[in-house]
Amino acid sequence: MASAQTALELKDIHKSFGDLKVLKGVSLTANDGDVISILGSSGSGKSTLLRCINLLENPSQGQILVGQEELQLKPGKDGNLIAANRKQLEQMRSRIGFVFQSFNLWPHKTILENIIEAPVQVLKQPKAEAIARAEQLLEKVGLADKRNAYPDNLSGGQKQRVAIARTLAMDPQVLLFDEPTSALDPELVNEVLAVMKGLADEGRTMLIVTHEMRFARDVSSQVVFLHEGQIEEMGPPEQMFNNPKSQRVQDFMSSHR
Ligand code: ADP
Ligand code: MG
Repeated sequence: MASAQTALELKDIHKSFGDLKVLKGVSLTANDGDVISILGSSGSGKSTLLRCINLLENPSQGQILVGQEELQLKPGKDGNLIAANRKQLEQMRSRIGFVFQSFNLWPHKTILENIIEAPVQVLKQPKAEAIARAEQLLEKVGLADKRNAYPDNLSGGQKQRVAIARTLAMDPQVLLFDEPTSALDPELVNEVLAVMKGLADEGRTMLIVTHEMRFARDVSSQVVFLHEGQIEEMGPPEQMFNNPKSQRVQDFMSSHR
């Protein structure tokens, strides 16, 4: 059997904000097709960890590899690590899709224009090609009829599905989700989770910060529990949900049923 290819590797990631040590040495590997859920209490460092991956936050220490390629880092003025090669950073960012809690769509652009913006501007795709791909993606997330609508006329669940389509338009190798359903009314959560489940089933590599426990149990290949900036425990969902070794994880799971 061929060994799985590494899609993303984080090695010993540290991050401080002033005196506050938020990440204290997190190491994590996602192989191609892995769906890794990241759980943990508020303030445990989940968002900071995701944001360090494409340098939305600059880690204080550590290494980041996308595929086999290591992101080149150097110390910045404040001691945190910054990209040593701007061009490489931009290229790596285009390989990592990030879906936020707040959808961050351009309000003055139509849904279609939102989706083709980065492929045309960043990837220099011909416009007709980008439009054809955007139409496929809108179909995939169930919003083909909204192509000419503006974000304000969509529900939160629809906006988040557009945000996912926009991310997919860059054809990223890895998808990062930071609480993608937390800002949604409860009745709109499932339509977004269904799209994400579809991506997992397609074999996409995903890191997902979520409080949707049932979803995490159903789609994850690995579950990571973060506590005060360190991995408290990680393992397959059967272990993490049914039989965690850590008392902290047990307590968290029983208070989040
Ligand atoms: P989580 O996503 O698990 O809720 P975060 O990664 O957002 O946790 O935050 C972890 C800790 O880092 C919190 O104590 C938070 O207040 C702090 N923090 C996050 N971002 C910043 C920032 N830009 N400046 C200062 N402190 C921050
Ligand atoms: Mg967070």
